[in-house]
Amino acid sequence: MGMLNLVLSNVSRKPPTRLYPFDIRVPYESFRGRIIFNPENCIYCGICQKKCPPDAITVTKDEKTWELNVFRCIMCTECVSGCPKECIAISNERAKTGPKEYIKMVAPK
Ligand code: SF4
Ligand code: SF4
Repeated sequence: MGMLNLVLSNVSRKPPTRLYPFDIRVPYESFRGRIIFNPENCIYCGICQKKCPPDAITVTKDEKTWELNVFRCIMCTECVSGCPKECIAISNERAKTGPKEYIKMVAPK
């Protein structure tokens, strides 16, 4: 009888999972989705690189490049709080999966 009750309750219940990717959950406001870099005010000081625990950021002062390896990033936000020019922010938008598109962000020279 217990088994029958379980089967009937499972049949009448909504599925506990979503039909991803057709039904995507709206992220929480404080969700750490992805890093956003705004090169406009960047002085390429390298503080974000020094503060990053897993060495996900590489900055070159001479060539004025800023790169993020998103596969290393642990979303600790040390770079966000450490940047003196407020060039780095965190968005609650999920990073899209895909090795090419999101492996690096390079600022124009
Ligand atoms: S800490 Fe800020 S200003 Fe300095 S290199 Fe990083 S992003 Fe640019
Ligand atoms: S959030 Fe943390 S791990 Fe990610 S790039 Fe910034 S300092 Fe590095």
